[in-house]
Amino acid sequence: MFEVIIVGAGPAGLSAAIILGRSRRHVLVCDSGEYRNAASHALHGFLSRDGIAPAELLRLGREQLRPYENIEVRDIKIVDAIHQADHFEVTADDGTRLTFRKLILATGIVDELPDIAGIEAFYSQGVFHCPYCDALPVPALH
Ligand SMILES: Cc1cc2nc3c(=O)[nH]c(=O)nc-3n(C[C@H](O)[C@H](O)[C@H](O)COP(=O)(O)OP(=O)(O)OC[C@H]3O[C@@H](n4cnc5c(N)ncnc54)[C@H](O)[C@@H]3O)c2cc1C
Repeated sequence: MFEVIIVGAGPAGLSAAIILGRSRRHVLVCDSGEYRNAASHALHGFLSRDGIAPAELLRLGREQLRPYENIEVRDIKIVDAIHQADHFEVTADDGTRLTFRKLILATGIVDELPDIAGIEAFYSQGVFHCPYCDALPVPALH
């Protein structure tokens, strides 16, 4: 039986999973595939991974969880969670209901773009939310 459910397999959820996995906890990580920087072609400023595609960082994170038999990752969306006296009852969008002792919400945030017609097409392609993240590519070596 799982002890902990982590909702969200972005950098936060995967980091929590690997620490709990190394602590010999039985962990289920659930993800709906709607991560914050999906619009970005490459992420920057993360030591050792400068210029990597966001999806590749997540793939590597999941790959490094694989040796831990006490961690499972499922691509499902959690739609409900109820706190009972000493556990949580969690429901997924496929109707699955599961019980856990601990619940970690690592669902990230959703950015709200300004109300400007057509801005979505340029988000992360000229309209940037952060100068350190995706506004500047990795400089070429000389
Ligand atoms: C355009 C853009 C570019 C960026 N570039 C960089 C960069 O270059 N370098 C950098 O360090 N940071 C960058 N960031 C910031 C970076 O994206 C965030 O810091 C990081 O994604 C936060 O990780 P997280 O795990 O908290 O959230 P997220 O990465 O958003 O992950 C949350 C996860 O939770 C899942 N989830 C949410 N609700 C549910 C649910 N109900 N059930 C199941 N799963 C759920 C989502 O599917 C998602 O995969 C950028 C952000 C944006 C918007």
